[in-house]
Amino acid sequence: MNKIILKPNREKSLLRRHPWVFSGAVAKVEGSPQPGGTIDICTSSGSFLAQAAYSPESQIRARVWTFDEAEKVDEAYFLRRLEAAVEMRRLLKDTGWIDSNAVRLVHGESDGLPGLVIDQYGKVLVLQALSAGAETWKDTIAEQVMELTGAESLYERSDVDVRRLEGLPEKKGLLKGVEPPDRIEIREADLKFWVDVRGGHKTGYYLDQRANRALVKSMVRGRDVLDCFSYTGGFTIASALGGANSVLSIDSSGEAIQLAKQNLQLNPVDPGKVYWIEADVFQTLRTFRDSRKSFDLIVLDPPKFAQTASQAERAARGYKDINLLAFKLLRPGGLLFTFSCSGGINEDLFQQIVAGAALDAGVDAQIIRRMHQGPDHPISVHFPEGAYLKGLVCRKE
Ligand code: SAH
Repeated sequence: MNKIILKPNREKSLLRRHPWVFSGAVAKVEGSPQPGGTIDICTSSGSFLAQAAYSPESQIRARVWTFDEAEKVDEAYFLRRLEAAVEMRRLLKDTGWIDSNAVRLVHGESDGLPGLVIDQYGKVLVLQALSAGAETWKDTIAEQVMELTGAESLYERSDVDVRRLEGLPEKKGLLKGVEPPDRIEIREADLKFWVDVRGGHKTGYYLDQRANRALVKSMVRGRDVLDCFSYTGGFTIASALGGANSVLSIDSSGEAIQLAKQNLQLNPVDPGKVYWIEADVFQTLRTFRDSRKSFDLIVLDPPKFAQTASQAERAARGYKDINLLAFKLLRPGGLLFTFSCSGGINEDLFQQIVAGAALDAGVDAQIIRRMHQGPDHPISVHFPEGAYLKGLVCRKE
């Protein structure tokens, strides 16, 4: 059997069921495991800890499939995990926690399937294999998830740079079933969107913000809204449909704005109330500050500024800049919906950054709500890194 033997005293995280083995914890590799192959993880004295997928190129040298020595990592193993993941989403739909035909079916480590993401947009599934292990079992998983869901297409969007850390090339294309349409119409409560699974970000759409779009929608009536980093208009459409007085949407991607405009047409709203700016948010907010523009509600949903803890400091400055400007642009009593999806910035640090921004803007504010990713993006209790999206609703005094 192929094995990783850990250095002395490096088994603690695995005993707590954290699923990653970092290269620095590895004393030696026995046998000749293939990338993505299954390998036993053992303590320095040789006792079994877990079975994992081997990633020789990655800093995360192995990702755990199971802590059970007797459980076989085979096709039946993946079917059990996929069934459990699909079943959980069924529960979310049956209970009304999710009212949409678009849902994250598999959320990697937190669904016991490290490195694997599968999103569903109606009859189309989109898969990302982000680790050597997920790549190895991709075809098995593809077949099983198509069968389980009855979907018509499974498209792969493994064109992400984290694959390079695993020594894997970027990949994109049809994996199973029929070619998906150019755009897929999805419904999220009473909101409708087009999703471009070939050209869009990630798998095409930001499913993780579903509940927060609904929160914004419930707060906008009669307000002047500024949606920063609007992508295909998630918060913009929610605001327009929620009865905002006006919505100004900013994104640097012309393509995203094009699709956002089409999304607006899908919904019964007055397009005359929505304005689009294709520009850099940092610069635009400064211009707005200088020209003393003001808004009643601002959404800040920037891309990941920090991939890792080491980039956190630079990222923190970015978050502070935009939050400071947003506090200045808010009218008294105005609401700021501010987010971070950076893994390297935790919830406490994010709150400190926002507090610092308010202080430097010379305003007082209250946090009236905390926001997170939706329940189809679960967080394994043993994998706190799974909690990546955090947000605050702040009310300016
Ligand atoms: N709020 C969106 C998701 C935002 S994703 C939703 O709910 O669907 C982040 C967006 O920020 C992307 O569309 C990207 O094009 C845009 N972006 C990245 N950097 C930017 C910048 N400096 N200025 C403006 N937009 C930027």
